Amino acid sequence: MKVTVGHLYPDYLNIYADRGNIAVLTERARLRGHELAVVPIGVGDAVPGGIDLFYVGGGQDREQALVSHDLAGKGDALRAAVDAGAAFLAVCGGYQLLGRFYRDRSGEELPGIGLLPLHTVAGERRMIGDVLLDCGWAGETLAGFENHAGRTSLDEGAEPLGRVVAGFGNDGRSGFEGCRQGRVYGTYLHGPLLPRNPWFADRLLADALGVELEPLDDALEAQAHAVSAERARSRGGRF
Ligand code: GLN
Repeated sequence: MKVTVGHLYPDYLNIYADRGNIAVLTERARLRGHELAVVPIGVGDAVPGGIDLFYVGGGQDREQALVSHDLAGKGDALRAAVDAGAAFLAVCGGYQLLGRFYRDRSGEELPGIGLLPLHTVAGERRMIGDVLLDCGWAGETLAGFENHAGRTSLDEGAEPLGRVVAGFGNDGRSGFEGCRQGRVYGTYLHGPLLPRNPWFADRLLADALGVELEPLDDALEAQAHAVSAERARSRGGRF
């Protein structure tokens, strides 16, 4: 099978090697005999049809301001694609713009596309460090790295991606991180995220392909996860 990934703003939203997530998806699809194609979707580009999985990385307030109005203009097409079954992974600055808005450190309100039931307001102190999440819905944990000024508030009844075991998460207070709604996942976890969390990469691929995937030998990935998780436990969530 072929899976097509729509990579939003690869030139603007790509800090902490977030594009590494695409490399992991490509390799894990290839190891199962599936082909993965990446379609960059930039400022001024229309949202093409036939996208199985959308991906957007993180970025500083400046880069978010450069793309947010263009993204808002793509909102209808992206919501329609998700309603038609496409999956979506959004990291940090991209995650914030999947909500209703992000009020940045200058106080400017950047429009989001309202694909996730949340909004974000930047605070004074950045929340930086290793993070460990308990994702009870999948019986798994996620380990990664966060660096954000934004404090994200989920709407009543919204599903977080995970419970914070170590780290700040959405706002440093709620005890939750990220948000998930159907096949749409938002998170503050950089790293990049997927090399040390192969189960989540497979979850995205399975959502995008609509098939279950046979397991791979993830011994090395498990070691990377364990190291990251231990770092989070020993120093995550401290200003
Ligand atoms: N600029 C946003 C914030 O500071 C997102 C940062 C990021 O993507 N790492 O919260």
